[in-house]
Amino acid sequence: FNALAKSGIQRLRAYDPGHDLVALRREAVDGLTELGSNENSHGPSPKAIAAARSALDEVFRYPDPLGGDLKRALAKKHGVTTSQILLGNGSHELLMQFAQVFAGSGDEVVVSRHGFAVYALAVQAAGAKLVLSESLPPDAAMPLGHDLDAMANAITARTKLVYLANPNNPTGTWFDADAFDVFIKRVPANVIVIVDEAYAEYVDAPEWRSAIDWLPTHSNLIVTRTFSKAHALAGLRAGYALGHANAMAVMERVRESFNVNGPALAAAEASLLDEKHLKSNVDATRRERDVLSAALSARGWKVWPSQTNFLLVEFGPETANIEQQLLSHDVVLRPMAGYGLPHCLRITVGRADENVRLVAALDALKEKSHG
Ligand code: PMP
Repeated sequence: FNALAKSGIQRLRAYDPGHDLVALRREAVDGLTELGSNENSHGPSPKAIAAARSALDEVFRYPDPLGGDLKRALAKKHGVTTSQILLGNGSHELLMQFAQVFAGSGDEVVVSRHGFAVYALAVQAAGAKLVLSESLPPDAAMPLGHDLDAMANAITARTKLVYLANPNNPTGTWFDADAFDVFIKRVPANVIVIVDEAYAEYVDAPEWRSAIDWLPTHSNLIVTRTFSKAHALAGLRAGYALGHANAMAVMERVRESFNVNGPALAAAEASLLDEKHLKSNVDATRRERDVLSAALSARGWKVWPSQTNFLLVEFGPETANIEQQLLSHDVVLRPMAGYGLPHCLRITVGRADENVRLVAALDALKEKSHG
C-alpha cells in the first residue's frame, strides 16, 4: 500500500510516541515511573475532572461544534476575540493541519533541526519541501536552540510557513523577546509563522515573552498552546491556536466538526478558570526542575537549561545502555537518537517521589558499573 500513498507519505515514518507504556505498566513490579512523555503527574485541577465527569452525562449528544464556552474563556484570558481562536484535538492536530492548509507541492517550510518532530512530519505529509535550518552551535549562548537569524535567512520566495517552538521540545531551549521581535519583522507578510508555546506556562526567564503580544501587529503570526502540559489534561486532547481571524476562518474549513469532545471542552474551560491550581502545579514543577537538574549535574551529567517540564541530559556513549537498564528498573525516559542526539535522554520533571526514584535508579546503575 505504500506505493498507493501520496509521494510525500511514502517516505514518512509515523510519529514515535516512545515505548509501549501499557505493556510496561503491566509488567512493572511496583508501578512504572513514567518520565518519557512530558506529562504532568502533579495532576489536573479537581474542578476540571468534575466538569469532565458531568459532561459524560451528555455523551450521547454531539459536543458543541463551536466550543463556544471554552473559546470565550480563552478570549478573556488572552485578550483576543473568539474569532481569533481555533480549537484542536490537542495542538498536534492543529500543527499538522497548518501544513495541510498552507503548504503543498513546490512550497517550502522552514523548521529548525532540533525542533519538535511533528513539524517535519506535517510538512512531508502535506507534500511540501522541508527546509531544515541548523540549530545554534555548541559555543552559542543557547546551544541547540533555534537560530532565528538562520531561519529568517532560509526563507525564499517559495516559503509558506515557518515552525518555531518556544520553549522547544526536546531541547528545552527558548528565545527571548528581542530576538523574536527582530525575526518577525524580517519575515515577509505572506509567510505564516507558527510559534508553538506548548510549554509557555513553565517559563520563568524574565527575557521571555509570549508571541501572543505580537498578534495585533503581525497578521501572519499564529500561536499554539495546549492543555496537555501545565493543565495536566493530556489524555483528554485539547489544544488551541490564536491568530488573525481570517487565517482561523480558513483553517475552520478543514477542521472536523466535533474535533474536541465534550468532556475535554468542559475540563479545559474549568482548568482555565482554576488559576490557583495551575499556579501551584507550575510552581511545583519549577521547583522540582531545579532539584532534579542539580541532582543530575552533581553526578557529572550535562543538563541543558530548560524552561519546560523536562530536561535534556547528556549521558555520553553509554546512553542507550543506561536507557535500557533504567527500563528494567521500571523507569521510562525518552531516547533522543531520532533527533540526532544519541548521547542524550529527555527526562520529564515528575513529582518529587518520581524524581527521587529516577535518581536512585541511576545511582544503582552507577554502583553496578563501578562494582
Ligand atoms: N508542541 C510541543 C512542543 C510538544 O512537545 C507537544 C507534545 N509533546 C505538542 C506540541 C503536542 O501536544 P498536544 O497535542 O498534546 O497538545
